[in-house]
Amino acid sequence: LQDKLDKALHTLKGKGQITEVNVAETVKEVRRALVDADVSYKVAKDFTNTVKEKALGENVITSLNPSQLMVKIVHDELAKLMGGEVTELKIDNNPSIILVAGLQGSGKTTFSGKLASFLKTKKNKKVLLVAGDVYRPAAINQLQVLGEQIGVDVYADLENKNPVEIAQSAIAQAKQNGNNVIIVDTAGRLAIDEQMMEEIRKVHQTINPTETLFVVDSMTGQDAVNTAKAFNDVLDYNGVVLTKLDGDTRGGAALTIRSVVDKPIKFISTGEKMEALDVFYPERMADRILGMGDVVSLVERAQEQFDEEEAKRLQKKIAKNSFDFDDFLKQIQQIKRMGNMKDLVGMIPGAGKALKDVEVDDNAFKGVEAIIHSMTKVERKNPNIIDNSRKKRIAAGSGTSLQEVNQLLKQFSEMGKMMKFMNSANGKKMMETMSK
Ligand code: GDP
Ligand code: MG
Repeated sequence: LQDKLDKALHTLKGKGQITEVNVAETVKEVRRALVDADVSYKVAKDFTNTVKEKALGENVITSLNPSQLMVKIVHDELAKLMGGEVTELKIDNNPSIILVAGLQGSGKTTFSGKLASFLKTKKNKKVLLVAGDVYRPAAINQLQVLGEQIGVDVYADLENKNPVEIAQSAIAQAKQNGNNVIIVDTAGRLAIDEQMMEEIRKVHQTINPTETLFVVDSMTGQDAVNTAKAFNDVLDYNGVVLTKLDGDTRGGAALTIRSVVDKPIKFISTGEKMEALDVFYPERMADRILGMGDVVSLVERAQEQFDEEEAKRLQKKIAKNSFDFDDFLKQIQQIKRMGNMKDLVGMIPGAGKALKDVEVDDNAFKGVEAIIHSMTKVERKNPNIIDNSRKKRIAAGSGTSLQEVNQLLKQFSEMGKMMKFMNSANGKKMMETMSK
């Protein structure tokens, strides 16, 4: 979607003026790009008509060139189409009950875990997760594992096959234990089916949730829209969660769902890790679709995950030229904690396109980590002592080659030289000149 929109919008580049002809051309290509990205034809057409009207109505005397102006119009309209503003989750009741519904495999259980973690760490809530997928013992176990990982209680009852009863007992327990948010994960099926709908309707009716969230896999394209409609008819939910936005899909479904069911998208899920959850900002999503990169999210995520204390400690070590392999390992681990590398790379403006086909993931560090782990404490502190026989031992221990060990040592030594230079009087002078 991004590429095609880019191309469409560049049609206007270099043209001195917005005219009816070049707007019509651009708009046609934008519409085609949207339809290709699973935006329904009607939505795409309404959208481009609005854009066209806006573009032709714009005063030509502006600081933006026609292509920039067009990007701005498309951006603003995209954001509007996706709801315009952030819609917050309602969690002020005591307890607040959140019901999570959707098809099997859409990412309900993963999202339930992420939301629990989000509410615990960011909103200071005492959360209880409820395992309501009674048909698959593995699903109950999956939620228990997640709960343990994030330090949130999980209510499960392997003996009971009635999700309504389970939800009721869970709520009773939550009230007793002082949980102020209850997240009820439910069972889905592979396709919309009457039994599933009846079951979720009953649960919904009995527990009367504060929020009902519909979870949908954004990679399923037009199907996502039909499913969204079917669930909305039965549950009249409050919000949508789009999952798997880390893939190549750039959110065509996001555009259509909003206008078809008129329910706000509240969260997007961008990976399998517990941190890969973002509040949905229509403006940022519009940026992302247009390939400007979601810089704000990127910065926020980076800030959250980089421990400030740790950063200060490292800075001190760098200043004293005593940055060693243990510090290096810690840095790698911090980068990994920030979530999937690909998610992050995709948010850097321009990089998304350039690196589209490159697999940048945690595995990129595997060899390096293995090598460092195979060094002794002394070697990590003083890489200088690593002679040939030590190198051989490290390569064998880490399952890498002598060449890879050499390469890492060389890179590390170059990094050290660089740091030393930056700390020297000359280096400081150079940095000063550069920042002027
Ligand atoms: P459920 O059947 O609706 O509960 O779905 P699950 O939460 O079990 O997720 C199904 C699969 O999708 C699992 O393998 C998850 O790890 C994966 N998954 C869930 N959310 C995301 C996401 O945002 N991105 C990616 N790449 N995978 C996801
Ligand atoms: Mg599940």
